[in-house]
Amino acid sequence: MANNEESRGLKSLLDWFANRRKSGSTNLERQEREIADGLWHKCPKCGVLSYTKDLRANQMVCVECGHHNRVDSDERIRQLIDNNTWRPIDEHLRPTDPLQFRDRKLYSDRLREMEEKLGLVDAVKTGLGEINGLPVALGVMDFRFMGGSMGSVVGEKLTRLIEQATQRRYPVVIICTSGGARMQEGMLSLMQMAKISAALERHRQAKLLYIPILTNPTTGGVTASFAMLGDIIIAEPKATIGFAGRRVIEQTLREKLPEDFQTAEDLLKHGFVDDIVSRTQLKKTLAQLIALHQPIPTTHPMVLWETMSLSPTAAE
Ligand SMILES: [Zn+2]
Repeated sequence: MANNEESRGLKSLLDWFANRRKSGSTNLERQEREIADGLWHKCPKCGVLSYTKDLRANQMVCVECGHHNRVDSDERIRQLIDNNTWRPIDEHLRPTDPLQFRDRKLYSDRLREMEEKLGLVDAVKTGLGEINGLPVALGVMDFRFMGGSMGSVVGEKLTRLIEQATQRRYPVVIICTSGGARMQEGMLSLMQMAKISAALERHRQAKLLYIPILTNPTTGGVTASFAMLGDIIIAEPKATIGFAGRRVIEQTLREKLPEDFQTAEDLLKHGFVDDIVSRTQLKKTLAQLIALHQPIPTTHPMVLWETMSLSPTAAE
């Protein structure tokens, strides 16, 4: 009798373990399926799982460790620009393959594949919109399109954006993320650095504000031109920012580089960037900076008042 009870007890215990193992595995399967479906997101930094919906509500910044996940250009525009104010410009500009370039693949095939996969025609979106009611000319690079590389279309779109901003007296904000110049366009891609820089110089001469936002990663020809020409340069936390890659520099110098080399934090320490702003605070910060730097119209009451109060002294 006792033996019978014992064996029944043992059996139920085994059942319990078996059931637990079974339910455990289905849970795991379900979790993996949900991650695959994009319902969940696993933080690459701290490994914490969070609902993609919650993560998106926090602008793709990990709630646990503050890791800034990569964000595509459409999401960026949604995060920064007020609803129903975005007006894209030069959407018709498309890249060509003037050098008939071939690496592992034909450049023209690469372009076609990217367009089919991502629905993007090149690595930047430009347009006019409002940030908390303040007009702005915004350029957003997209790392998914050939590593955000700067080809002729990226250069031309950014140049036209800056020129429009100069004409309309708008501030310019460019969200930078790039592996550098686009090798497949050779010299034509390098020329873009000078072209964009020249447009920015005319924007500066008109006493207008330009803020580049350096996100992970900002490297190569983009760092060597418009990313570093801002009046106020803002970086996202922990972003990699540099010109040549760490490995190339280490091999050339035959020296080990410090751990935080080419991080936003290290650049801030050395004066290359002016501030590091969390993505969750970016829109608010931009709105404040733009409001502070609004060009004063000549009929502004403040100017009149200054002229009036100064004039007796000037007459003396
Ligand atoms: Zn995390």
